[in-house]
Amino acid sequence: MKEMYARLGVSESVFDYGEQIIRLLRQRFADIDAVAEYNQGKVLAAMQKNRVGANCFAATTGYGYDDMGRDILERVYADTFHTEAALVRPQITCGTHALTVALSANLLPGDELLSPVGGPYDTLEEVIGIRPSACSLKEYGVSYRQAELKADGSFDYDAIRAAISPQTKLATIQRSKGYATRPTFSVRQIGELIAFLKSVKPDIICMVDNCYGEFVETIEPSDVGADLVVGSLIKNPGGGLAPIGGYICGRKDLVERCAYRLSAPGLGQEVGANLGLLPSMYQGFFLAPTVVSGALKGAIFAANLYERMGFRCIPDSTCSRHDIIQAVELGSREAMVAFCKGIQSAAPVDSYADPIPWAMPGYDDEVIMAAGAFVQGSSIELSADGPIRPPYAVYFQGGLTWYHAKLGILLSVQKLMEAGLTKLPEVLS
Ligand SMILES: *Cc1c(COP(=O)(O)O)cnc(C)c1O
Repeated sequence: MKEMYARLGVSESVFDYGEQIIRLLRQRFADIDAVAEYNQGKVLAAMQKNRVGANCFAATTGYGYDDMGRDILERVYADTFHTEAALVRPQITCGTHALTVALSANLLPGDELLSPVGGPYDTLEEVIGIRPSACSLKEYGVSYRQAELKADGSFDYDAIRAAISPQTKLATIQRSKGYATRPTFSVRQIGELIAFLKSVKPDIICMVDNCYGEFVETIEPSDVGADLVVGSLIKNPGGGLAPIGGYICGRKDLVERCAYRLSAPGLGQEVGANLGLLPSMYQGFFLAPTVVSGALKGAIFAANLYERMGFRCIPDSTCSRHDIIQAVELGSREAMVAFCKGIQSAAPVDSYADPIPWAMPGYDDEVIMAAGAFVQGSSIELSADGPIRPPYAVYFQGGLTWYHAKLGILLSVQKLMEAGLTKLPEVLS
């Protein structure tokens, strides 16, 4: 094994350090495996119940009328998420698009959108109109309010109550911290928030941005009262195989409106050819629980390695996990570059590329990104990025297999060592 890792660029001391850490994580890895096993059962039961057959995998073109494979895949998603309906389409181009469809389908002029969990994910700022953009919700007469979280990251129930008015139609709840520093919410916490929102305004629609959260726990936000759950297929539920797509699961009347928004009033879910993508969408969903478990092990492994080397990790090495993102504060530009070089050199694709910080549209600071993915931009595949500014944090996530995530993290440590930016600690088991 050491020889194999040496061939891949990992020295004996780094390999041994990793093995020591893994020995300390046996119980946590077993717990993650149990969640994956349970979720595999959920997906299998949904596929069996809906009689998925070889006849579901045929390509359709043109209008895509009577696309049985597409309709059954949507039933499989609905049954896995325990919702009345689902919209799962390659015509949904990304997570932001899925969220945009869900919001613009269910908010009309004069309605107000509420975020009870502070500011939303960056790309939603333009969707909502927090940053001006053509075709934002604001342009269409939908107003927006947010209630900030308390300093400790918990819900500020008084502020939320004060922010709800008769116009408040829909609450958007982002499960994952994304690139913010707040904690990610557990599904149980989201359930408490939804119960509170509905106690103040019973008809409020609760939508959860579920990106990066799917299959991390045995329950999903739709199990605790969410009316809509929304996410991207090039993150968790695509299992690394779906080449594009998004999903919206939830109440039938709300999902139906999403379908009318996505295609056209009157057409809705009846149109939308699958273009031959269904096999990878089915197979990716089937593999997703296992893929997510590998990514989670990688995140916890990294937190445990880096924390012992003296770097602050968010979440920390012992925290329970509710999404697959790991942030590591590396403290310098050089360390961010070394870390990303390690992740990049471990990739199956573009391993020879050298990530360097670069000015990116939409960002004030230079950004560095490491990704060697089969699907462009896929962040269920091992990837790392971050803005070059204090505290010089890299956010990394994914790994289609635990072994690949492990190699990437070991190589990141290796590159930091070679640059003289860290040394290995003693591990006491
Ligand atoms: C990734 C992400 C999005 C947006 O998804 P894209 O596919 O990048 O458009 C929205 N919300 C959260 C929390 C995310 O992690």
